[in-house]
Amino acid sequence: MKTVDWTEETRDILHPETDLPEDSRDYALRPAKLDEFLGQAAMKENLAIFIAAARQRAESLDHLFLTGPPGLGKTTMARIIANEMGVDFTETSAPALEKAKDLVGILTSLKQNAVFFIDEIHRLRPEIEEKLYMAMEDYELDFIIGQGPGARTMRLPLKPFTLAGATTKAGMVSSPLISRFGISCRFSLYESADIEAIIRRSAAILGISIDDEAARLLSTSSRYTPRVTNRLLRRMRDYAQVQKLPSITRESVRDGLNRLEIDELGLERLDREILRMIIERYGGGPVGAETLAISMGESVDTLEDFYEPYLIQTGLLQRTPRGRIATSLAYKHLNIEMTRIAGSPAAGGAGLFNI
Ligand code: ADP
Repeated sequence: MKTVDWTEETRDILHPETDLPEDSRDYALRPAKLDEFLGQAAMKENLAIFIAAARQRAESLDHLFLTGPPGLGKTTMARIIANEMGVDFTETSAPALEKAKDLVGILTSLKQNAVFFIDEIHRLRPEIEEKLYMAMEDYELDFIIGQGPGARTMRLPLKPFTLAGATTKAGMVSSPLISRFGISCRFSLYESADIEAIIRRSAAILGISIDDEAARLLSTSSRYTPRVTNRLLRRMRDYAQVQKLPSITRESVRDGLNRLEIDELGLERLDREILRMIIERYGGGPVGAETLAISMGESVDTLEDFYEPYLIQTGLLQRTPRGRIATSLAYKHLNIEMTRIAGSPAAGGAGLFNI
């Protein structure tokens, strides 16, 4: 295999199109129609029915609650729904809605039956959440005009709309808010076959060819997450392009993943550091999420939303009420020997494993 000269010039070749961060150029890869959205079959089937029924009645679709780890397609699905309904799409995130007037401004400018997407809906301020209740239920808003004794409340009618609320933390959304959503979409990590299909679709859009074996290897390193899949595919394209390969091969994927320090289970350096930290500093666990996050220099949110779902899915980490535990698989994967000391939680409660 050719060696690559990583000069400034090489880097320019890699990202010639624009200075924009890559994610904002991702629109080309983002499916726009329901049948371009791969995976999550049961959810898609139900949504297709609800969309068809709402269209027949010329009504807005019921409010949608979208939950699941980041990068699984919550935003994409909300956009697709707007496309399929033939309505406008407006997007914001809960932290951006600082004042009630921010919400009022958006709601009053929504077009008929529009989809209004709020990301991180678990982070809504209580006074904004209250306002949303009435808007969701009655398509009306109470709005206070003026200040002091002269202040008066005005009731504003709204056009019917669909609120699409997305969150990685369904448990942190209040039950009054949850109960106002009529449709719930729970995104789970993708099957390998779906990830392979996404790789082939994205490769075709990017105009690159990829061997079957290369696609398979890449799919096992994608954390079952389309956003990661697309990111890795773009990196593999970079490596193949600079090495002037006509197509992405198994060998170039292997080499590329090595360079990115991604191992055969798809773990990145930080995933391994989390496991190593639990094992080496906390005797295999249990260790609380906050303690662990502080030790890693990461936020609890990042730890819980991005790293943990995959570590749990691969059976390397367990979440227990007393904290996080590295499983025997984690020891094996990191090649760390388990030494039995009486009373270990990592041994399934039978004895204490330590290193
Ligand atoms: P989330 O909102 O859950 O964080 P996004 O909707 O932003 O995730 O998805 C991240 C990216 O992954 C999208 O830009 C899109 O390119 C890709 N993607 C997500 N789901 C799918 C899918 N089912 N099929 C193909 N690509 C997908």
